[in-house]
Amino acid sequence: MAPKEVLDLHICIIGAGMGGLATALSLAKQGFNHIDIYESASNLGFVGAGIQLAPNMARILDRLGVWQEIEKEAVDLKDTSIRQGSTDEELANVDLRYVRETYGYPHMVGHRSSLANALLDGCKREKAVNIFMSTAIASVESWGAHPSFTATPRKGGEPYPVTCDVLLAADGVKSVIRDQMLKKNNVDAKIIDSGQAAYRIMLTREQMSNDPELLELLDRERATRWIGEKRHIIAYPVASKTIYNLSTAQPDLNFADAPSSTYTTNGSKPQMLSVFSDFCPMVQRMLNLVPDGELCEWKLRVHEPLPSWTLHQTALIGDAAHPTLPHMAQGAAQAIEDGGVLGVVLSRLPDASPEAVGKGLRVYEKLRRDRAYALVEMAAATGRAMHLGEGADKEERDRQFAALRGGEKGGKVPDRWADAEVQRVVYGVDVMEEAGEGFGELWEKV
Ligand SMILES: Cc1cc2nc3c(=O)[nH]c(=O)nc-3n(C[C@H](O)[C@H](O)[C@H](O)COP(=O)(O)OP(=O)(O)OC[C@H]3O[C@@H](n4cnc5c(N)ncnc54)[C@H](O)[C@@H]3O)c2cc1C
Repeated sequence: MAPKEVLDLHICIIGAGMGGLATALSLAKQGFNHIDIYESASNLGFVGAGIQLAPNMARILDRLGVWQEIEKEAVDLKDTSIRQGSTDEELANVDLRYVRETYGYPHMVGHRSSLANALLDGCKREKAVNIFMSTAIASVESWGAHPSFTATPRKGGEPYPVTCDVLLAADGVKSVIRDQMLKKNNVDAKIIDSGQAAYRIMLTREQMSNDPELLELLDRERATRWIGEKRHIIAYPVASKTIYNLSTAQPDLNFADAPSSTYTTNGSKPQMLSVFSDFCPMVQRMLNLVPDGELCEWKLRVHEPLPSWTLHQTALIGDAAHPTLPHMAQGAAQAIEDGGVLGVVLSRLPDASPEAVGKGLRVYEKLRRDRAYALVEMAAATGRAMHLGEGADKEERDRQFAALRGGEKGGKVPDRWADAEVQRVVYGVDVMEEAGEGFGELWEKV
């Protein structure tokens, strides 16, 4: 069979986060040979935090040739334990060992930097991919057949114009390109105030070394969720069990008056201890280990589904298109799915004309939209269920937990990411395969 002819397209990507890097790699693997990524940060000194590496993410990373590297130091979860924050009583325990056998990939947890660095190294190995660090894109100047923008080096150097054939905005939850695109379409991205904020904490083995109970948590392949009214903490070991990662959710006390462009702030340890003051002594001991002055707090911002993710030859990817609460642990996974699907779709374009590119991007949106937004809604619903206060809804939730404890097979897990039926929908779907199968029909429709 003659090798497939690769279309000569200049593809620009704004943002070298999980979505941008995965997309560049996916396009390079499909044979595209001119891919430029512009990243405003000077280096990818990625947030010190853990990340769940769900099987639907792993499947794509494996195809992109970077999963083996990540898997080496990730921790393979055997189970998840959902516990009452105040007493540490186990409400339910869900076995996760079946996941690898059923979906071909395990449910692992790892360090964000290990995921990001593997994607970055993967991109660096591809001759087709150029990464321009310390280079911010403030606005798109032309949205026409060949999108153009000004790239501004942040450390000296003159701003310079760039024109391309395809522009992909992977500039995250704060996306400026999204705002401009919506303005151009005469619509707004309606920000929803989640009312929630998060601390992200990493405790080293050394910090935990004097506490056998804490060391037991670090040595176990388990994700533990402690829940309470309006708050929870999810925690698991990462980096070959050298670090215990905690991610919290609590009422937003600090961002209410901040501009909507503010996403992080220095967290106050006394405030954190007070927010979780009724959680059990073991949790208190962990939170007390956080060094003073080293706490970062994140505002959890989301917005209503956008009317559209594309304008002509430009499209949004990842959090720019579908920011989510983290409670389903699917934000990065969905950004990576976007990248995998874009690779499949653009590689099937019949020609390199602007019309074909525009149509291809609309096919991409059609393939991705419902799934990404369903997961955003599921994450919000999980938060609502985990954060219930006293009342009939909490009683019903706890009844469902109790049924699981009683060995009820196939019972509904209120912590939705651990529910087998939800996992079937999220982990069991190969979005790249579906994109290949669905492309022809959608091409006729968009
Ligand atoms: C507390 C918390 C826990 C989470 N846990 C998980 C989890 O367990 N599993 C999971 O899958 N997801 C998780 N997520 C979600 C995940 O982190 C995000 O969904 C994911 O990082 C989105 O990737 P992205 O590429 O769209 O955006 P980002 O990773 O935010 O990348 C955007 C990039 O664009 C750059 N940029 C921005 N503007 C410009 C510009 N104008 N010019 C040039 N560059 C620009 C930024 O510097 C950044 O590097 C979590 C999120 C939070 C807040």
